[in-house]
Amino acid sequence: MPYTSFDEIEQIHTDLHKTFKTKLTLPLAFRQHQALQLARMLKENHARIADAIWQDLGKPAFEVYLCEINPIMERCVLTAQRLPGWTQVENREDIVSKPHQKQWKPRVYKAPKGVGVVIAPWNYPVVLSFQPLLGAIAAGCCCVLKLSEVSSHFAEAVADIFPRYLDQRAYRVVLGGVPEVTRLLELKWNHIFYTGNGTVARVISAAAAKHLTPVTLELGGKSPVIIDPDFDDIELAAKRIFWGKTSNSGQICVSPDYVLVPTKSRPGLMEELVKGFQKAYKESFPEGSPALESESYAHIINELHYRRVERLLEETKGKVVTGGGKDPKTFKMEPTILTGITPEDALMQGENFGPVLPLLEVDTVDDAIEFISSRNHPLVMYVFSDNEEVKTRIREGTASGALIFNDTFIQLDVNEMPFGGVGESGHGSQVLQYTFEEFSYKRSCLTIPKEIEPVFKTRYPPYSQETFDL
Ligand code: NAD
Repeated sequence: MPYTSFDEIEQIHTDLHKTFKTKLTLPLAFRQHQALQLARMLKENHARIADAIWQDLGKPAFEVYLCEINPIMERCVLTAQRLPGWTQVENREDIVSKPHQKQWKPRVYKAPKGVGVVIAPWNYPVVLSFQPLLGAIAAGCCCVLKLSEVSSHFAEAVADIFPRYLDQRAYRVVLGGVPEVTRLLELKWNHIFYTGNGTVARVISAAAAKHLTPVTLELGGKSPVIIDPDFDDIELAAKRIFWGKTSNSGQICVSPDYVLVPTKSRPGLMEELVKGFQKAYKESFPEGSPALESESYAHIINELHYRRVERLLEETKGKVVTGGGKDPKTFKMEPTILTGITPEDALMQGENFGPVLPLLEVDTVDDAIEFISSRNHPLVMYVFSDNEEVKTRIREGTASGALIFNDTFIQLDVNEMPFGGVGESGHGSQVLQYTFEEFSYKRSCLTIPKEIEPVFKTRYPPYSQETFDL
């Protein structure tokens, strides 16, 4: 399918701004209907979408339904149900501190920002394309959805089916790569919602700044795992880390990136973790069905990323203790765990975004806190601990978009929690009401009674000592 031409991009820009002015997207019934149409699109085309993602990533259909299609369909329905509550006008009469201002009818409206752009990545294409779009729909915005060229089968499938379900006057798909995004960014939009890496985020922010367009940035980073030396079920920890690490072959923004293992008070902890990891690996990929052939295990998206992860493994000074196998023909890599890693290691510089898990030894939990807090704020931190004092110390001593105790990756299943980063891992957040709020602004509305003019008489110049003394 050809990329969207520059002329078409400009036409879409003009058309969507015109549509927004007509107030087509304002009525709640319209927004609810479009949200449900999105769900319907996924329901009626789930097999085609799952197949496209299989072609792009080799992602098992089970993972696509469990983590992408079903949650987004559910969120479309929840959006339609909850929208009246989210859009309710806030009446501030009861909380104004100056009693006479009650009569000013203080109200706060959640108003749509206008025409938004969603720029989506390849790794979780259903969620990361449609979740922001759903927020734009809910807020009453028009929206352009720029799909990632990297997950090209998914992009083509969506470009084909999308116009049959969503109102084309208000919502449009754009296909393309860097030149098309660059053209989009030259135009003025009312909100940009970007998901991807920090380098491109800087390009997006700089372009948005030219028009003073607000931006949501959903980025990645190195999400660490801390194991409290007193945590008593290392086997469980290993199994849960393994699940988060191997899902989508580690190509998830919230994938555990590395593990900090304090060994001072419990020598051998690291070995137990490795053993547990190996056990989980065997359980999930029984003999005769290794990861490289398993249909339950995704491949690396493309050669570029395969080579990138391969280079990281070649450059590391660490020792592979499990995994390490790979196949350049299928871009598959075994889940690979390494020890003997230092902070200077190649694997500890950027997000590894692959099925690779380095283990770093630290003396204590406090050293782990110091290590994390001296680096960029991660999108998420995973901590295996049952000790409330340790949990508090970690929470207060670090910053991250999310802090999850005793599991990995499962936080994305909770509909009512904001998902987003802090600092280098991004700003703004999503999921249901939180995405709605990204595309809305709070509009203050007051009606000042004409009759109170006598009270205002002193505010007008010329000022005098008499008014000053008042
Ligand atoms: P990608 O290559 O698909 O890029 C994302 C989008 O940016 C695409 O639509 C692409 O066309 C556009 N783009 C790429 N280069 C550009 C440029 N130079 N100028 C303008 N636009 C450009 O995806 P990616 O960046 O490889 O995605 C992976 C990254 O995204 C990882 O760092 C991951 O952690 C992060 N991520 C974050 C979240 C989150 O919600 N926080 C979710 C998923 C992925």
